[in-house]
Amino acid sequence: MPQPNNEPILGFAPGSQERADLQAEIDRQMGEVIEIPCIINGEEVFTGTTTTQVIPHNHGHVLANVHLAGRTEMEAACEAAVNAQQAWIDLGLEGRCAIFERCADLLAGDWRMRVNAATMLNQSKTAFQAEIDSACELIDFWRFNCHYARGFHDDFQPLVSPEGVQNSTEIRPLEGFVLSITPFNFTSIAANLPSAPAIVGCTSLWKPSRNSYHSNYVLMQLMMEAGLPPGVINFLPGSGAEITEVALANPDFAGLHFTGSTAVFQGLWQEIGLALPNLRSYPRIVGETGGKDFVVAHPDCDRQGLLVALLRGAFEYQGQKCSAASRAYIPSSVWDAIRDDLVSEISKIKMGDASDFTNFMTAVIDQRAFDKISGYIDRAKSRDTCTVICGGGYDDSTGWFIEPTIIETSNPTSESMVEEIFGPVLTVYVYDDSDFDQVLTMCDEGSPYALTGSIFSSSEENIQKAYNALRFTAGNFYINDKPTGAVVAQQPFGGARASGTNDKAGGPLNLLRWVSPRSVKRTLDIPQDWTYPFMGADE
Ligand code: NAD
Repeated sequence: MPQPNNEPILGFAPGSQERADLQAEIDRQMGEVIEIPCIINGEEVFTGTTTTQVIPHNHGHVLANVHLAGRTEMEAACEAAVNAQQAWIDLGLEGRCAIFERCADLLAGDWRMRVNAATMLNQSKTAFQAEIDSACELIDFWRFNCHYARGFHDDFQPLVSPEGVQNSTEIRPLEGFVLSITPFNFTSIAANLPSAPAIVGCTSLWKPSRNSYHSNYVLMQLMMEAGLPPGVINFLPGSGAEITEVALANPDFAGLHFTGSTAVFQGLWQEIGLALPNLRSYPRIVGETGGKDFVVAHPDCDRQGLLVALLRGAFEYQGQKCSAASRAYIPSSVWDAIRDDLVSEISKIKMGDASDFTNFMTAVIDQRAFDKISGYIDRAKSRDTCTVICGGGYDDSTGWFIEPTIIETSNPTSESMVEEIFGPVLTVYVYDDSDFDQVLTMCDEGSPYALTGSIFSSSEENIQKAYNALRFTAGNFYINDKPTGAVVAQQPFGGARASGTNDKAGGPLNLLRWVSPRSVKRTLDIPQDWTYPFMGADE
């Protein structure tokens, strides 16, 4: 099989066919309120216990009524996943890849606008942000994961088979099901977490975020249309705490595939530890979690390039990317030169409805996020060491809108320099031009996270210095670029320290966490004599 290519990104320029198609699909989805069931063993289950899904930039508009799983449905889903595994394994890697490659083809074709529109409305992404996430990244996840899985089936065969012996390695899946608990902010990650283990033969419970039920359900439907057999992935909107409790009470719980906040992941890890005596296997635990992603600039940097990276890196998708630039260390000479221009460019950012293609930003995901982010802004306003130099306003009357905000601080350990805010807030610490080395240490020690970060410099020596000093400060490191926008098969994504287990989603390292190889020795010359030569007596 040839190596896949990254899916080309559609531009949605005015007058383009894709723009007209997407607009028509947005209008269609705006005109309906759908019922979203649980999907258990391939069956739709309407539980009658419902919640609504609204549009973050227009929270009076209901997109869907979502039927939540209760204990009975969660237990049925565990049973379905366990029962489905043998046939799924028997289908073989090629059979499984054929299904997920069909998923990728459907998404690249007829389903693209449906999934993009659902992501724009459900999670308030602009057309471009939806396209790079829910279409391109997910197509890439599916195609490249199949490619990588084929690769290691061959790569991990034993190197040596002496005469009379045939050695082989069976790349088995984990025995049991994987619990996939997914975040709101990337539709692609949500679908990838249950499907990556499925490609190598695991079955899964998929617990979507309460803030992305609509787009995630469209993808569940897509996977079923592509031929995903019943029970392989079971879609369970509902309480994460309760699903975890039910899953861990089942001895066949084989792993957790999580993306979300650090605190939730740490709690889950502890619960898994407590459940161990009840489990058949030691479960695999994979979690990609929060970030406090940095930009460090050297006085010799490209100033306009830095300005663009700060603006895009901090404010695209309202700063709700785990990789969003949220703390910057800028030398005073550079800051003096770019500060007013940066503020002026930010004042040009249009914010509003995601389906108005002229907007660069839309709303944050929900009231909880709005309250949390505005709280950080208000506390910064009240501190002597912080000055809000642009933005700082917010309004939740129609949608949960927060202005792109920059806080300038003289305290490199102020809370907005250290904690994940997950909103359109960038904090800048301005340092003396001669303190570059100290600032690298400050950046390394400044936050418990280690997800993404950038260095801006035009000198190789300074880049190398930062590269070495920040080795463990970011799992994805950028040189003269914004710290967002990792692409499957180009920059495998994940961080360490408090940012996760760094298993690099969309790469072979992640897939390897879902396999448990069996080594097989076949003896062709079967020994017929139990004695060994050394046992002979001396003459
Ligand atoms: P979140 O932690 O609030 O929720 C993630 C998932 O966990 C959701 O499905 C939620 O319902 C579930 N959950 C919440 N509490 C739970 C509990 N007690 N038990 C079981 N499940 C529970 O995160 P979010 O707001 O959806 O996503 C944003 C977070 O995700 C940010 O911290 C961001 O940095 C992180 N993120 C990280 C990456 C990465 O690759 N490192 C990628 C995307 C998002």
